[in-house]
Amino acid sequence: MDFELTDEQRDIQRAAREFAQGEFDRELALELERNHAFPKSIWKKACELGFIGLHFPEAYGGQGLGILENALVVEEFCRQDSGIGVALTLADFSSEVILRFGTEAQKRKYLPPITRGEAISAGAYTEPDHGSDITRLSTTAIRKGEEFVINGTKTFITNGTLADHFVVLCHTNPEADPPYRGMCTILVEKGTPGFQATELGDKMGIRMTSTAELSFSDVHVPLENLIGEENRGFYQVLEFFDESRIEIAAQALGIAQGAFDRALAYAKERRQFGQRIADFQVTQHKLADMYTKIETARLLTYKAAWNFDRGRIDPRLTAMAKMYAGRMSVEVADEAIQIFGGYGYITEYEVERFYRDTKIMEIYEGTREIQKNTIASSLIGKTKG
Ligand SMILES: Cc1cc2nc3c(=O)[nH]c(=O)nc-3n(C[C@H](O)[C@H](O)[C@H](O)COP(=O)(O)OP(=O)(O)OC[C@H]3O[C@@H](n4cnc5c(N)ncnc54)[C@H](O)[C@@H]3O)c2cc1C
Repeated sequence: MDFELTDEQRDIQRAAREFAQGEFDRELALELERNHAFPKSIWKKACELGFIGLHFPEAYGGQGLGILENALVVEEFCRQDSGIGVALTLADFSSEVILRFGTEAQKRKYLPPITRGEAISAGAYTEPDHGSDITRLSTTAIRKGEEFVINGTKTFITNGTLADHFVVLCHTNPEADPPYRGMCTILVEKGTPGFQATELGDKMGIRMTSTAELSFSDVHVPLENLIGEENRGFYQVLEFFDESRIEIAAQALGIAQGAFDRALAYAKERRQFGQRIADFQVTQHKLADMYTKIETARLLTYKAAWNFDRGRIDPRLTAMAKMYAGRMSVEVADEAIQIFGGYGYITEYEVERFYRDTKIMEIYEGTREIQKNTIASSLIGKTKG
């Protein structure tokens, strides 16, 4: 057993930290957050330096690195700034579906622009009536000659109004029984007639990302936009979640670490009753608890990434990492606000934003409850529902 990162991994971690410290300006972050704006210029620079899609093979513009290296970058970015970090690290969202299951032509067409900062991707799975349960969907893609014709609505889609292409989960065989055996993932490019993305409006956190509703009204796409085998879409998405949940755990981990860093510095500086608040034992215990939780989440997240990089799919492990890191991050950010007292409630001091930004970690890519269902079903067999 070896708990050390390699020299190369430490170099990547350091490079990501230095980039984030140099580029993620606090005033800019506050402005972007206020305006619900994507950090475009920083994203471009991150792509130029190879931070986005570094886990893609070199042939598709990546660096041929693993999910662990990607998680280290995600953690450092989110630690420096929860809003900018999340927005940047979701810019390649769902590209892995193309990478793992797409044709050679699809990989060559869609992946290099993502790493070059010329395109943003999105994954459209959730529908207004099908969230946690995507074993049945209302969106259909019916084969007509050499095309699919897509109809339906997707909601809560990250990068919805920014993305250049979308991986869309649809029913191609609405008669399939069970329904999930008749699903496919299909690529849809922005600007395709009949396709429309509409921003959902104000939200609690991650305001530098777009969250949109997508509508498909007789959208025609060529059959070659099918990703992988027909009727395997549901399984592809489940496998993708086993990868992407590690990234979400890393986002949660980074945000918790960032909130902790700020709380620790503040506790050592702020004086009340003639002493530093860090000198009160109650504050010390808070810091000890926070740090222990962060380190526990780090061990689970790195282990899940390390395991994935060894070619092993372990839904229980990734669900544990995502569930624990998500809850832990909300708790740590909450405690950070408490340590800041009234200042913690004021946006300028950042920790309230970290708190708002991290709540989504318990919701997207499967809620906390769904992660528990996955963990439990692997322990005791299939859980009801
Ligand atoms: C900001 C944001 C970004 C998102 N980005 C994307 C994206 O890019 N692509 C995409 O496809 N989706 C995205 N989502 C959607 C997200 O994945 C869903 O919101 C999530 O999976 C939950 O679905 P739901 O909102 O319909 O809640 P529901 O499924 O209606 O769940 C409501 C509550 O019931 C609980 N529940 C449901 N089923 C069970 C069960 N079997 N056992 C126990 N409890 C259960 C849930 O845990 C939850 O507490 C995003 C959502 C948000 C808010």
